[in-house]
Amino acid sequence: MASHPSFLQQVDRMYAKAAALTDHTPGLLKQISICNSVYKMEFPLVKDDGSIEVIKAWRAEHSHHKLPTKGGIRFSMAVNEDEVAALATLMTYKCAIVNVPFGGGKGGIQIDRNNFSDAELERITRRYTYELFAKNFIGPGTDVPAPDYGSGAREMAWIVDTYRTLSDDPLTAQACVTGKPIAQGGVRGRTEATGRGVFYGIRESVSFETDMANRGLKPGLEGKTVVVQGLGNVGYHAAKYMQEGGAVLVGLAEYEGAIHNPDGLDLESVMAHRKESGSILGFPGATDIPETARALELPCDILIPAALEGVITKENAPRIQAKIVAEAANGPVTADADAMLLEKGVLLLPDVFLNAGGVTVSYFEWLKNLSHVRFGRMSKRFEQSSNERIVKALAGAMKVEITPAEMMRLTAGADEVDLVNSGLEETMSTAYQETREIALSKGTDMRTAAFINAINKVAVTYAEMGIFP
Ligand code: NAD
Repeated sequence: MASHPSFLQQVDRMYAKAAALTDHTPGLLKQISICNSVYKMEFPLVKDDGSIEVIKAWRAEHSHHKLPTKGGIRFSMAVNEDEVAALATLMTYKCAIVNVPFGGGKGGIQIDRNNFSDAELERITRRYTYELFAKNFIGPGTDVPAPDYGSGAREMAWIVDTYRTLSDDPLTAQACVTGKPIAQGGVRGRTEATGRGVFYGIRESVSFETDMANRGLKPGLEGKTVVVQGLGNVGYHAAKYMQEGGAVLVGLAEYEGAIHNPDGLDLESVMAHRKESGSILGFPGATDIPETARALELPCDILIPAALEGVITKENAPRIQAKIVAEAANGPVTADADAMLLEKGVLLLPDVFLNAGGVTVSYFEWLKNLSHVRFGRMSKRFEQSSNERIVKALAGAMKVEITPAEMMRLTAGADEVDLVNSGLEETMSTAYQETREIALSKGTDMRTAAFINAINKVAVTYAEMGIFP
């Protein structure tokens, strides 16, 4: 029996489909697709009980055409070299699509974090950082990690703290990692950025009347039914903004099971129920789906897989009923399933575009760390007084009274989080429009168009270096 193609082979297959629609030479196309370096490490962890466990971990730098390379660190038992290389590859394309001037990278530590105490996780993360430092695989200008599946702000704080003690450049050290807590140099809006970006991307995609009409849908988010798989950082925030934007969450899935209610599920109530009972199952008014993957097959307008890769395969693709599949996770749809969904007329919003909000705001965090100034610090008051002058002049000309509260609301200058969110919104909307234009002009799907977009942008960098004819 033929074995399943690996994650990297699937990414390469998608790349080949797009590459065939470009005019670049085979040599350049090969250079753009290959993974430049992978560092595999094994190091000992002294556990709390004094025993020793050997930990396996990787860091892949897919493309050095722009530096630093950038990409999250996964804490998962499923991590392996192929997966890290595949995810680093996607990062290169993702950065290019949203015009973030980085190459792609990805890291992984092969552990189930639930099997380790906080102190052990800290030792693992610090040792991993030390290993990266020793091999020049971390640094503000070389390779900048971020959170991913199983890691978050706390781990990023351990990384920056370890790096700072090793680096001899205190001025830039903080920019060695993103997704940090605010007090450690993080940027407001980073935690929710990927989910928020998913929301902006979907909102843009459903705004095109013809694209919606082709799927029997009306434009706009209002009333669209949504199923979300995975309520972690990305899934929870995507679900939250979708609900706030007027969509109806009809199905939610976690690893312990899924719940369904065609009349809608209130996200915060479900989260509170899960916190209290330890499970989303048993939520009042909803039907339990113990076999959680079945949630992907629920009737809905928009399906958002936001957990892990490879969850929509050729086996379950025929049963997917969603009209839009929005890849919040990396690689949730296999290459075979991708072809089958397109055949069914599904609008597939690819990961390389849709979850790029995280790296976009990571880029803002990196800029903030290098400039040592909070966004909006120098402009907020200036904007406020300029706005005040305009509002006062208009109010005078129109002979209307403005209350102090109204004046404050109308004239407020932008805070850091306002600027971050507005930069993210602009980035996601522009990237969608750019990719859609390519899809229309080449007569292809959104994933292939996104890859073409990325290939062309990376090719321009190589052309400007004068390396390739
Ligand atoms: P996370 O660890 O915060 O959340 C993942 C969630 O999925 C967890 O709640 C977990 O319990 C749940 N889950 C695991 N297996 C499941 C299953 N079989 N069915 C349903 N739920 C399941 O991770 P995250 O940061 O939200 O990342 C999720 C995905 O998004 C990954 O593919 C990651 O690579 C991608 N991503 C994350 C970011 C980011 O900024 N965090 C950026 C881009 C892409």
